[in-house]
This record gives sequence, C-alpha cells and structure tokens, in this order.
Amino acid sequence: MDLRSFSEKATARSTANKKFLQQLKKKDGRKVDTQFHQIHEEVFAETDCLTCANCCKTTSPIFYQTDIERAAKALRLKPGDFVDRYLKVDADKDYVLNTSPCAFLGNDNRCSIYEARPKACREYPHTDRKKITQILDLTYKNTLVCPAVLEMVERIKALH
Ligand code: SF4
Ligand code: SF4
Repeated sequence: MDLRSFSEKATARSTANKKFLQQLKKKDGRKVDTQFHQIHEEVFAETDCLTCANCCKTTSPIFYQTDIERAAKALRLKPGDFVDRYLKVDADKDYVLNTSPCAFLGNDNRCSIYEARPKACREYPHTDRKKITQILDLTYKNTLVCPAVLEMVERIKALH
C-alpha cells in the first residue's frame, strides 16, 4: 500500500467526498446500507490490511471496560496497570491509546493482541454495520485514514 499517494488522493477528494456524504444522509437508509455492504465486501476482498495498518498507525480505538479487561488478561496485567501503561483519557472522557502508532502494532503490521483487540478495532472501519447514514461524518473522516473507505466512497459516488 502506497500510503503517501493514498493521502494525497484522499486530501484532493476530501471536499467533494464530504459534500457527497452529507447528501447521502438524506437518501433511503436501507438502500445506502445495501450499497455500502456490497461494496465493503468487494473492496476488502481486494485489500491486504497487512500492507497498510494506517488505522493502527494514526488513530486510536476507544477502550471500554470489557476491552480493557480482555486486553489486560491477554497481557497478564491487572486492568489498572494496563490503563496506566497504555491508555489516556481524551477530550470526550474516553480511554484511548497513549501512543501513536499503537503500542501493539508490530513492524510486520500485525497486532500483537489480535485475539484480545478492542471491539472498535474489530469493527473498523464500520462500513458493514447497519444504519450507515447515522455515521457518515465518521465515514468521511475515515476516507482520510483508510484506503479501503476512500475506495468504497469513490465506487458509491459512481453509482449516484
Ligand atoms: S482497515 Fe483500512 S486503514 Fe486499516 S489496515 Fe485496512 S485498509 Fe488500512
Ligand atoms: S490494538 Fe491491534 S488492531 Fe487495535 S489499533 Fe492496536 S495494533 Fe491495531
């Protein structure tokens, strides 16, 4: 994955993509879900996340209590020690990673706590969930982080 050229392309298209996703909020939510879910499957069938890991390099999942307990157990730490070592509280008072890239990301782009990773990592970039019209502001932000999301939005634009 050429992340530099992805970033240039994402920035060049950001204004148009923001406007398009704003307009998409007013469309039939079920149709938008169907389009996203189909194109999500197509794009991820062609995407190798291990050549990218830009989400793990540049953004943080929110860690809820169950995420903290699961990850701490995998690392044989007490939940409180896991929080002290790896997390901070952000402006929304959520627990997030205290480093970027994520401390669990290896040089080979693999997650060292993959089986115990937070729910937000499992669900990223959320383009296969229901009621996608409710999260299109997040989807827009993810066009600037995730090459797969940028490609999905480009393909969905071509359908409209
Ligand atoms: S989900 Fe997106 S940003 Fe994360 S590794 Fe895969 S293509 Fe890259
Ligand atoms: S916990 Fe794993 S999947 Fe989640 S951001 Fe860190 S390296 Fe990526």
